[in-house]
Parts: sequence; structure tokens; C-alpha cells
Amino acid sequence: MNDLHKNIELIRKRIEKACFSCGRPVSEVALLLATKTIDAHTILKAFQLNALLIGENRVQEIVEKHELLLQVPHTTHLIGPLQSNKITKVIDKVQCIESIDNFELAKKINNKLLLKNANLNILIEVNTSGEKTKHGCTPDEVINLVMDISQLKYLHIKGLMTIGTLTDDKTEIRRCFKLLKSISQKIENEHFEGVAMDVLSMGMSDDFEIAIEEGATEVRIGSSIFGKRTI
Ligand SMILES: *Cc1c(COP(=O)(O)O)cnc(C)c1O
Repeated sequence: MNDLHKNIELIRKRIEKACFSCGRPVSEVALLLATKTIDAHTILKAFQLNALLIGENRVQEIVEKHELLLQVPHTTHLIGPLQSNKITKVIDKVQCIESIDNFELAKKINNKLLLKNANLNILIEVNTSGEKTKHGCTPDEVINLVMDISQLKYLHIKGLMTIGTLTDDKTEIRRCFKLLKSISQKIENEHFEGVAMDVLSMGMSDDFEIAIEEGATEVRIGSSIFGKRTI
């Protein structure tokens, strides 16, 4: 077995173990490979191991890898911030944008989708850590944002995404994930038309087991599978 194969198997085992220890079915947690800076040929090798859900941070990388990756049916999510001048480039190449955090951006995407008569799934990114450098709307803004975006015909809210605080303090990391879960429950209770809270995208290489314990349905793993990045 090569490293990629071993690493994916190991992560799958750890996901299984985390699910088992908190009594959740493994089928509830999807593994998304965070493929920023990873070349298309390596990603194709991961596809061979049936890891078919990838997340990219930059539109440019999605565009560059798109054609080569097309030979294998797979799913691509945008997990990094989106600038409005790149909307057209990306909306026909991804199945979900996980980083929606303001209404202006959502409206612009919706307008572009209208022209193509296409639909797109999105997640609302929430800044649960409170760190100023992080993207995402504030926990206080989420309900109103979801309500406003639910009016946009071509966008379908499927859940929430967050990045936990970058720290060794497990209590603080857990607080972020608990917060995202509780916000999703509040939104569910509102029964907004056309809004689902099926997806909680949270947890990365260093904290995905905690995220699973707190209800993650999708974990985004990069360096534990592909090795440390230089950027
Ligand atoms: C890079 C990245 C990940 C994966 O992080 P690792 O620590 O390498 O597993 C997950 N989510 C987002 C938004 C990222 O940018």
C-alpha cells in the first residue's frame, strides 16, 4: 500500500472509531478531502480509493484541475471564500459552496444561476471561534441570513459549515462545534421553507474526532491524508 492509500484507510478507521464511541452510524459522516495545492493526478489516485468528495479553497485551482478530474464522476465543494468576479467560473464546476457568509454574495450567485437556469446547494459558514481573521457570519447573524437567503430561488441551503479555533485547547474547539450544532437546531425549529439542516461540515485533521462527537456529518481532511502543505 502506498502512503495515500494508507492515510485514507487510517482516516476512515479513525472516523469509524469516533462514530462508534459516540453511538453514531458511520454512514452519517462523509469524508471530504481538502485538496488545496494537491495536483489532479494525486486526486485521481484518491478517486481510485473511492474517496470521491473533494473540497477546494480557490476557484483558480478548481478551474485548473477540472478537465482532468472529469474522467471520474465525483463531487466538488468550494470550501474557501468566493470573490464575486469569480462566480461564473465556479458555479458550473461545483455541487456545493460551503462558504456563504453574506447576503450580497448569495444574491449575486443567485442572479448568475438565474441566467443559466441552474440550481446550487450551499452551506452557511459561521465564525464560531470569534477570531477576527476568520470568514463566516457571526453566530448572531445566522438566522436572519438563512431567512433572507431562503428567498433566493436558485440557492438551496443544506446546512452549516465552520472552522474551529486553531488551538490545542480541546474545550475551546469543542465549544465551536457545539455552537454550530445548536445554531443548526435553532434553524430547524424555525422550519424555513426550502431550508434543510442536514449537513454540519466541521472538523479538520487535528480536530475531526471532536467534531464527530458533536454532530459533524462531513469532515474536511487535508494534511493527514496528503501530508503537510508548505502553504
Ligand atoms: C485546508 C482546509 C481543511 C483541511 O485542513 P487540514 O488541517 O489540512 O486537514 C479543511 N477546511 C478548510 C476550509 C480548509 O481550508
